[in-house]
Amino acid sequence: MDGNYSPVTEETIKDLAALIGEANVSIKEHELAGFAIDEMPLARSYPPRVIVRPPDSGAVSRVLAYASAKRIPVTPRGAGTGLSGGAIPIHGGILLSLEKMRRIIQIDERNFVAVVEPGVTLNELHQAAEACGLYYPLYPGEMTATIGGNVMTNAGGMNAVKYGVTRQYVLGVEAVIPGGEIIHSGGAYVKNTTGYDLTQLLIGSEGTLAVVTRITLKLTVKLAKREVLFVPFLDLQNAIDAVPDILRLKQTPVGIEVMDQDIVKIVEKFTEKELPYHQYQAFLMIIMEGDTEEEIYDYFARVETICRQHGAVEATVPGSERAKRRLFDAREKFYLAVKRFAPMEMIDTVVPRSEIARFAVQVKELSRKWGVPVFFYGHAGDGNVHLHPVQVDMSRAEFDGKLHPLMADIYRAAVALGGTISGEHGIGIDKKPFFGIGVEEPAIDIMRGIKRAFDPGNILNPGKIFDL
Ligand SMILES: Cc1cc2nc3c(=O)[nH]c(=O)nc-3n(C[C@H](O)[C@H](O)[C@H](O)COP(=O)(O)OP(=O)(O)OC[C@H]3O[C@@H](n4cnc5c(N)ncnc54)[C@H](O)[C@@H]3O)c2cc1C
Repeated sequence: MDGNYSPVTEETIKDLAALIGEANVSIKEHELAGFAIDEMPLARSYPPRVIVRPPDSGAVSRVLAYASAKRIPVTPRGAGTGLSGGAIPIHGGILLSLEKMRRIIQIDERNFVAVVEPGVTLNELHQAAEACGLYYPLYPGEMTATIGGNVMTNAGGMNAVKYGVTRQYVLGVEAVIPGGEIIHSGGAYVKNTTGYDLTQLLIGSEGTLAVVTRITLKLTVKLAKREVLFVPFLDLQNAIDAVPDILRLKQTPVGIEVMDQDIVKIVEKFTEKELPYHQYQAFLMIIMEGDTEEEIYDYFARVETICRQHGAVEATVPGSERAKRRLFDAREKFYLAVKRFAPMEMIDTVVPRSEIARFAVQVKELSRKWGVPVFFYGHAGDGNVHLHPVQVDMSRAEFDGKLHPLMADIYRAAVALGGTISGEHGIGIDKKPFFGIGVEEPAIDIMRGIKRAFDPGNILNPGKIFDL
């Protein structure tokens, strides 16, 4: 059912211009080329045939109703920072960019709620909330990503141990379904048991069920201080073994990041800045917020004791804002540093926290088995492990030949340990060949039924996650 779409013709372009205004429709070559990929590594390029930039939900509705009637595929797109190819228009057709729907409609200081259009960036939301003394506490790595994209990938990031993921912050949405109807689910309230929860169903659906056009988000209050403890270990196993004990303390850290020496070396080369204690094999970064520095340092003292019991040799809190920024900067640049280093893949497995150490050992064995180096880092506090198989000392053909079976082995190992294949980046096209490892066939069939109920003509982001 994925093929057989109508082509985009000159008439289609005229129709779209009549529906949403000529200024909101483009077929400029360089713009089409710019929307042909997203941040998925090793992605092939698929330019759309036409770009539409609807200014409001009415325009989204007219485009989707038209595309459904004519059977033309539509790919929604936020900032294109997704790592799984979800925003790549693999069937050409219409690329629906949300970039003009960028209003922060309301920051409701009494209800601790923000209402935004989907093209608002994470950065803009953070700033708007903070200007009102409030806080949107999620930090999924890339601040130029849109809130619409974050919702559609259920983005996670570094603050998830304490604050959770996007799913926990979305109170309601307005969305346009492929037939063009505008639906509303949830709102600026916390409790809701009014039928099936369509808000939660749409979150993480990667633009395959509806286009989200307005989002109501929960905000919180920001604590005054935020510090990081950087702890080097003699080996990765020891670092990971310390995590469950740290989490048994009464206070919950914002995040616990783990990294090994290989990735530290790569990022030092990329940023041309050294990290402290880089001679050690593995590192934990424990991020904590509190009302006072004393409160945080008390907590860090207890964490340091635990880490030393697990073989840590040092522990340091950066002595200046600059040193602290450098640490965070380095962590945020892992992906870009590996991308610059060599052709690579991005794996986003998740396992129960207690199984990270065992998973790390298995990944090392699989890396040896296939002769492909694999960089290892991740959000240790929530079990979300990022892995980069890299093409080193082998041809592209050899790398490509080994990549698929290596990834399948890694996903099977994660699932056998009680985990799954994507913690926060989604399936898109990149992880689609492995979807059946993470989800059983009867469950995929239910998902197919849901997709058909929203999108009987299969025009919205077809070919993503699974085939119909
Ligand atoms: C350097 C770097 C670091 C990153 N770090 C993290 C991290 O720590 N945690 C994390 O979770 N992710 C991370 N990401 C991935 C990425 O930023 C997130 O997946 C983000 O949520 C994507 O947002 P976007 O606006 O770029 O969406 P896009 O890439 O444009 O789209 C993502 C998906 O959502 C769909 N979509 C977008 N907007 C809408 C809409 N309004 N309605 C319906 N469907 C829509 C698209 O069709 C696509 O399937 C990182 C990416 C990079 C490049």
